[in-house]
Amino acid sequence: MSTIFSKIINGEIPSYKIAEDDRFFAFLDINPLAKGHTLVIPKVEVDYIFDLDDETTKGLFVFCKKVAKGIKSVVECKKIGITVLGLEVAHAHVHLVPINGIYDIDFSKPKLKLDKEEFIELAREISSNIKL
Ligand code: 5GP
Repeated sequence: MSTIFSKIINGEIPSYKIAEDDRFFAFLDINPLAKGHTLVIPKVEVDYIFDLDDETTKGLFVFCKKVAKGIKSVVECKKIGITVLGLEVAHAHVHLVPINGIYDIDFSKPKLKLDKEEFIELAREISSNIKL
């Protein structure tokens, strides 16, 4: 069975893509906590992040680092927070969220409503600031 995130990787479902290499894919969260909230996923379809093999685990973190630097260079914030929940989609994913304080990464908060143009522009700016 293919997860919604595998469908995004394959282009069957559209996304606001941030970065991609042979093993990983990053795209804007459709219900963001903050502008620039990004999901980073391994292409391999594994539900629980701690079931990933060691090489994928290491690579995922390095890929996250590169993506986070790109987000930070575009979105004004103190830091890029990193969280793993995985309660909704059964395909391992890391949330990268621009934060100025702990309240900015509270997942129980109402999400932002961005229009399509804002998503497109954010994705364009961030992706052009990522060096893989
Ligand atoms: P979690 O599994 O970590 O609890 O949450 C899954 C995250 O994926 C949520 O933040 C949700 O907004 C995001 N999400 C779910 N479906 C889609 C989708 O089709 N496209 C995008 N870009 N994000 C999604």
